[in-house]
Amino acid sequence: MPITTADVLEFLRRSADVLHENKEYLTELDSAIGDADHGINMDRGFQNILKKLPSVEDKDAGTILKTSGMALVSSVGGAGGPLYGTAFMQAGMALAGKYELTAEDVLAALDAALKGVMMRGKSKPGQKTMIDAIDPAVTAMREALDSGADTLEALERATAAAEKGMKDTIPMLAMKGRASYLGERSIGHQDPGATSSYLLIRTMAEMAREKA
Ligand code: ADP
Ligand code: MG
Repeated sequence: MPITTADVLEFLRRSADVLHENKEYLTELDSAIGDADHGINMDRGFQNILKKLPSVEDKDAGTILKTSGMALVSSVGGAGGPLYGTAFMQAGMALAGKYELTAEDVLAALDAALKGVMMRGKSKPGQKTMIDAIDPAVTAMREALDSGADTLEALERATAAAEKGMKDTIPMLAMKGRASYLGERSIGHQDPGATSSYLLIRTMAEMAREKA
């Protein structure tokens, strides 16, 4: 079954729900090594995406995601908003003009999002950020598709890799963003951004499981 723009819209709506449900959890994680606003930021940003969706419902996947990215940038301050905004805008560029997506397209979008965050955040894997969830997910999804896995299998492997990546941030020393101001005291806490990235990737896999 092809992935359609209706699925992209559904993904954004579900993500808004998931982030709303996890608002306190993400904020709690951010209170340990940041300024206790990550859940509030993500919730506000995705509620703003929901407001913009009616204006792009009949548009291509690229336009839907670019509009979502701009909605994040315009409604969320700090680091998380602009970084996630860049991720969604870059994912949108990778899907420009497309109304139907293959698993390869989803991978290309996720990879573009990863590269966008790395460029904008001047960050790389191992620095205790959202990159540590997204990068292993991209690698796992690429390996899965290369070995002939279908969309569901590829997204489930990406989710497992993102979850591991998220947990692997616990012993890491934060080298980017507010958490880096804590130095050694950042060790022992799970990164909030890696956690929200895992939740978004898991949402994709859940949708694929229901469609399969
Ligand atoms: P802020 O840090 O401005 O309060 P948030 O709390 O919304 O913003 O987001 C914090 C998250 O942003 C961190 O947990 C981390 O994953 C991510 N982050 C911060 N700086 C960077 C960076 N330079 N590159 C990638 N991700 C980053
Ligand atoms: Mg914060």
